[in-house]
Amino acid sequence: MIPRCRLFALSLAIAGLSVFASSAAAAPWINSSTGNPYHWARTANPFTVKLGNNMTSAWTTYLNETSLDWSRSGSLTDYVLDLNFTTTNPLRSTVVTGLTTGRKCRATTGRVEVCNAAYGNNGWLGVASIWASGDHITRSTVKLNDTYYGSNSSYNTPIWRKAVLCQEIGHAFGLDHQDTTGSNLHTCMDYASTPDDWNTRPNRYDYFTLETSYAHLDSTSTIAAATTSGRRGLHRVRDGLYVEDLGGGNRRFVWVVWAVPSVFHSAPDEGGA
Ligand SMILES: [Zn+2]
Ligand SMILES: [Zn+2]
Repeated sequence: MIPRCRLFALSLAIAGLSVFASSAAAAPWINSSTGNPYHWARTANPFTVKLGNNMTSAWTTYLNETSLDWSRSGSLTDYVLDLNFTTTNPLRSTVVTGLTTGRKCRATTGRVEVCNAAYGNNGWLGVASIWASGDHITRSTVKLNDTYYGSNSSYNTPIWRKAVLCQEIGHAFGLDHQDTTGSNLHTCMDYASTPDDWNTRPNRYDYFTLETSYAHLDSTSTIAAATTSGRRGLHRVRDGLYVEDLGGGNRRFVWVVWAVPSVFHSAPDEGGA
């Protein structure tokens, strides 16, 4: 069985530093140099993050569903049907026309580009990349690897597709995994080895984490402008988490769902151009 993506939050050091935000429930992705959670800068709540749709029809239903799921607020129901809860989650996402192709999946400042393609037998089901300037996420890409969702694959199910996509989108908003042991915490932000329908969406702790991470307002916004950028090279922070130093305090982080998680992976082959 394959866990989902394997990436974690790190910040300053490129080599040697291993900061594991091992957390029970709430799991923000912490910038270890500041102690603050990574987040999109915005000047008002609620705020909307654009998800650029560069996906084929096999995925678009799940993209639309996960966008709605991450945008929920108010009175919701948790995995045990009688456990209702209320959240003031300020995050809204909206699916918009993509600005790249599935294969290239080029990032655009101020938004998330979501892509799928057959990226090859490179060992990962999904990859989320986050560019950060200080604590602030400035752009993100999410890629789903069709090579592992073929007609004969055990991952070619609605639950696996949506669970992995939901987790990668969660990383794009600044969330970490709630658990990586294989236990089922009934959230897409775990590594449940046998995911069920409740692993295809966030649970209450994910919404509470968003509430906390986005409780403050910023004087500037990172969810607006549009500039693209290329790549320089990834360095392994630990398995499943990689970082690229872009200079000037800017970094890109990459989370990977390895198909064979127990093997040392120096860095993902991201496929495409
Ligand atoms: Zn992940
Ligand atoms: Zn901020």
